[in-house]
Amino acid sequence: MADQYNLVSEPAAGPSAGGGRWAPARSARRAGPPRDAVIAVTGHCNAHCVMCDIWKHRQADELRPEHMRRLPPELASVNLSGGEPFLRGDLPQFVQEARSRCARAVITISTNGYLSQRIADTMERIVDIDPGVRLAVSLDGLGSVHDRVRGDGGAFDSVIRLLDLLQGRGCRGVRLSMTLSQVNADQVLGVAELARSRGLELGIVAAHRCRTHMRLENGVAGQPTEAPRRSFQTLVARWLRSWNPRQWLRAHFAANTYRYLARIPQALVCRAGRDFFFLQADGTVYACGVNGRVMGNLVEQEWEEVWNSPAAGSARSAAERCGGNCWIVCTVRSWYRRHAWSVAAWVAGQKLLSHLRLLRLPAPPAEEADDTRSAGAEAPASPASAVNLPIEAPRADPSH
Ligand code: SF4
Ligand code: SF4
Repeated sequence: MADQYNLVSEPAAGPSAGGGRWAPARSARRAGPPRDAVIAVTGHCNAHCVMCDIWKHRQADELRPEHMRRLPPELASVNLSGGEPFLRGDLPQFVQEARSRCARAVITISTNGYLSQRIADTMERIVDIDPGVRLAVSLDGLGSVHDRVRGDGGAFDSVIRLLDLLQGRGCRGVRLSMTLSQVNADQVLGVAELARSRGLELGIVAAHRCRTHMRLENGVAGQPTEAPRRSFQTLVARWLRSWNPRQWLRAHFAANTYRYLARIPQALVCRAGRDFFFLQADGTVYACGVNGRVMGNLVEQEWEEVWNSPAAGSARSAAERCGGNCWIVCTVRSWYRRHAWSVAAWVAGQKLLSHLRLLRLPAPPAEEADDTRSAGAEAPASPASAVNLPIEAPRADPSH
């Protein structure tokens, strides 16, 4: 699933997003325990998404539930992903093992929602194991737009059927996750309205060129060529005007998702391979799921061996130099933990502007249109100078 790159999996408390700058780590070889893990329990998928090539490849699923016993127990979040994780009949056992091993971790399962009945039934078993488990359901547009993103007719109807089943059974912890691609850049507000009407939280992330996880090799597959600024502006302002701190955090994430899409550079030193890692279905541990270096293999090695290996040290060093500026849930969580006050200051300032109908997102670098109208209106673009996002001046090219 694409949505493990989405804050729908929950922020712990975003990059250049608060005005701070990540400090390079002193030693690449050694690192403390990571906090966040994305685990592809399967490399198989029943969807054919435009922004992902997993479905074009066949790979063996070497991971078994008992391999979860090798995870670092300090993890604060575990995202069970795929492919489509519900294709695995032993998904509840994965949850069981992860729950036992990582007592403090919030477990989130990502799904494309195709197998509505099976997902709803399996979730009943999973909730018995861990009542706090979260389910992130991908929804990338309304009706035929979602179907086009997924590459299959009927995908949207499956998601709606799944939501009906889950909500009808009182399943809590369900939320929506939207990945913005070339196909659905105009769907932000429509999906947000659907989420609101169902009382569900929504996370929005830009399609990234995920070589490691999604097997993308060529180009920035599916990433919109134009950032939908007005839609983001409206949504960010709306979320900031709420009195729900979680919505404020989502507003911050969305504002910086827009910046990523608009190619407004941000200066980050990535902590992939330190604060987070990606575990592939064949057991390979990568520093990240986007373009991460190999650190080891959890099917063949114990955790300490992987985490303290020379390969892990090289992967950390490469991440520090990467400059990819990925705006995904892992990098954002990591940044939030270190810059909570910057985020709080951003929220305070932008919330005030939102209530005054003065919030503006920056124009992409080449855009020179003007705008003096409110964020709530479908307004023309505003000048970058009107922006108050406390994000550092452009320093690097986010080349994803
Ligand atoms: S993005 Fe998710 S649902 Fe779509 S093909 Fe990739 S793994 Fe499957
Ligand atoms: S910035 Fe580089 S190392 Fe960090 S998540 Fe993105 S591709 Fe991975």
